[in-house]
Amino acid sequence: MICVAGVRLQLPTAPPTYSIYSSIFPLRRGRGLTGLKNLGNTCYMNSILQCLSNTPQLTEYCISDKYKNYISRSNKTNGQVIEEVAALIKELWNGQYKCVASRDLRYVVGQYQKIFRGVDQQDSHEFLTILMDWLHSDLQTLHVPRQREMISASEKAWLEFTKAKESMILHLFYGQMKSTVKCVACHKESATYESFSNLSLELPPNSNVCQLNQCMDMYFSGERIHGWNCPSCKTKRDAIKKLDISKLPPVLVVHLKRFYADPSNSGSYMKKQNYLRFPLENLDMNPYIARAESRAVTPKTYQLYAVSNHYGTMEGGHYTAFCKSANYGKWFKFDDQVVSALDSSNVVSSAAYILFYTWLPPMQVPL
Ligand SMILES: [Zn+2]
Repeated sequence: MICVAGVRLQLPTAPPTYSIYSSIFPLRRGRGLTGLKNLGNTCYMNSILQCLSNTPQLTEYCISDKYKNYISRSNKTNGQVIEEVAALIKELWNGQYKCVASRDLRYVVGQYQKIFRGVDQQDSHEFLTILMDWLHSDLQTLHVPRQREMISASEKAWLEFTKAKESMILHLFYGQMKSTVKCVACHKESATYESFSNLSLELPPNSNVCQLNQCMDMYFSGERIHGWNCPSCKTKRDAIKKLDISKLPPVLVVHLKRFYADPSNSGSYMKKQNYLRFPLENLDMNPYIARAESRAVTPKTYQLYAVSNHYGTMEGGHYTAFCKSANYGKWFKFDDQVVSALDSSNVVSSAAYILFYTWLPPMQVPL
């Protein structure tokens, strides 16, 4: 089958000659190396879907139909989003198509969120964040047994977030942030906890070339805030607000805040074009852990496996994905319907917008 303008055509079973065939398919069609047709500015969606499709644990969960045992029908999206994502991942991995269209998924997400309905370009980060929330709630049926022993503040906040019902999406992608505010006068501390499906990092101002750990250091360094109502001093005080990770997820998604409202340009959205250097291997998250809180002993060193890229400006831009296929052990560029091989030396670029890291051991999708 080949997809031309969204229509799937049956190809002759035996190609006429190899040379003609290979000019049609410069890259041999492989499982998981199927493109996604652009349905009118849907490259933001395609880019994210290819990054998810290259998350082998998620793909295996969909292809094996395991997800069917855990669908929730009593939530906002009625289990429809996971069903459409799973159907699409199956198409991407069945090795029959050069490209497929995500029409059904797009229709479903458009039903629940107006902005994904039209043909306007959208932010792939916003799409990812909303999609994760929907996928989690579509699968949030795993009952967590009530703990009898004393639980930490971090675990208590996690339980409040999940309402004792978890999902495979939560287990893979969700972490938890601890936010501590400390009074500069009496040193009284107050901590709150929030779950996250991705980290949103600022890029350093005034530097065209920067390192990912600079962004992390800025994010986790702590800042002085004014007028905090100190419960101990019982008056407004200056305080230091600091973030630490209290729960690291197996898949750590890092978003780079490239878009910002420019006050000198009547608040219109501008893009930071910084060239960010980020490691393909051994991203060390050890410095950013809230040590006292987390009882879980999990790996803290991550390997990169996917990048959602943005080229151009806020108004006129294009998204692609660079993903390392677990099954081929190589990097590929997913540019809507076109999938091509990519040298790992080209993965880092100034277009990098969302980074997908994992500490899970390499796993091939069983086919
Ligand atoms: Zn105080």
